[in-house]
Parts: sequence; C-alpha cells; structure tokens
Amino acid sequence: MSERLLPNGFCWCGCGREVGLGKFFAPGHDKQAEAAYMAVYHQGSVAQLLADTDHGPDDEVSIRDAALKHGGWETCPRGCGYAGAAASVRNHLKKHSEKED
Ligand SMILES: [Zn+2]
Ligand SMILES: [Zn+2]
Repeated sequence: MSERLLPNGFCWCGCGREVGLGKFFAPGHDKQAEAAYMAVYHQGSVAQLLADTDHGPDDEVSIRDAALKHGGWETCPRGCGYAGAAASVRNHLKKHSEKED
C-alpha cells in the first residue's frame, strides 16, 4: 500500500497557492496536476499511459481487471458490464432503476 499522504497547506500542483486545512489542491488543480503528469510521462494520452504501464490491449491484464482485482472496483450486480468504485456503482444502479420507471 502507498504511504498515507498528509497535506502541507499548499497546493501540490506547484502553483504555490495556500489551500484550506486538510486539502491537497486548490479547486481544479488536481486535474491540472494530472494533466501535467500525463503530458510529461505519457504524451498527454491515456492510451499511451495504458501501453506504458502494461495495460494495453495486447497485455495480459487490462486496467479494468487490475482495478477490479487491486483497486477496490466492483462490477454492476445487474450484470450489464459496468465497473467502477463502490460509489460509482451505487450511482450507476440508480440509472438502472430510472430506466425501469
Ligand atoms: Zn495549484
Ligand atoms: Zn449496470
């Protein structure tokens, strides 16, 4: 497991902004940091990221399978093939019931 991270009062994207107690990022700056990381290490491409981390289409374990196995992801109990974090699956299940109404 990764070591537990503690916020230090400043935005981790590198902008130098002070952020509220318990926060790592100014609003939206986590996305900016993510985009910067992608640009530096994976040419801004998720496909490149997957290929670089052995989760490309020719690799044994897709990122979806890896998430289900190691990332705490779950599949939709209705068997539609949707997969995501527990909260996402809960949200997704609402859509099933909305459709049936
Ligand atoms: Zn920032
Ligand atoms: Zn479903």
